[in-house]
Amino acid sequence: MLKYFNYDVVFQEIPNEVTLAVNFSLCPNKCKGCHSPWLWQDKGEIFDSQSIDYLFDLYKDNFTCFGFMGGDNDPQSVNMLAKYIRINYPHIKTAWYSGKNEIPKEIDLKNFNYIKTGPYIQEYGSLKDKTTNQKLLKINTDLSTEDITNMFWKK
Ligand code: SF4
Repeated sequence: MLKYFNYDVVFQEIPNEVTLAVNFSLCPNKCKGCHSPWLWQDKGEIFDSQSIDYLFDLYKDNFTCFGFMGGDNDPQSVNMLAKYIRINYPHIKTAWYSGKNEIPKEIDLKNFNYIKTGPYIQEYGSLKDKTTNQKLLKINTDLSTEDITNMFWKK
């Protein structure tokens, strides 16, 4: 089960995209120095396909990418709901911010345009730091993955 805590349109999470970012609670990763430790808790509303329809109706076409921010507690649902967007809103790209190092087996790459991997580790910094352990992967049409983390480092 996924639960969403809040959502907003953001500009920096995915380069060159206007992202409707939905923040999920129930995060199992518990990274030391986490920017949002309240997302570890069981808070917010259940997130399902009706939630997606609601948000698409609310924001209309004012974004280019739908961002699943978290959801490592239930990657199967992340995958299923990304597929729902692919089918019902094919003009919108999909992104997933995971805190795991590896993409889980439940994830079908064809449902995503971008996947961020890796936990937050204080000494390595965030995606904006060249020392980061995290990676932003672009999923190409042939389902190969391309590390585009360096796009965060360009001025
Ligand atoms: S994955 Fe993100 S939300 Fe979860 S503990 Fe790590 S930094 Fe916090």
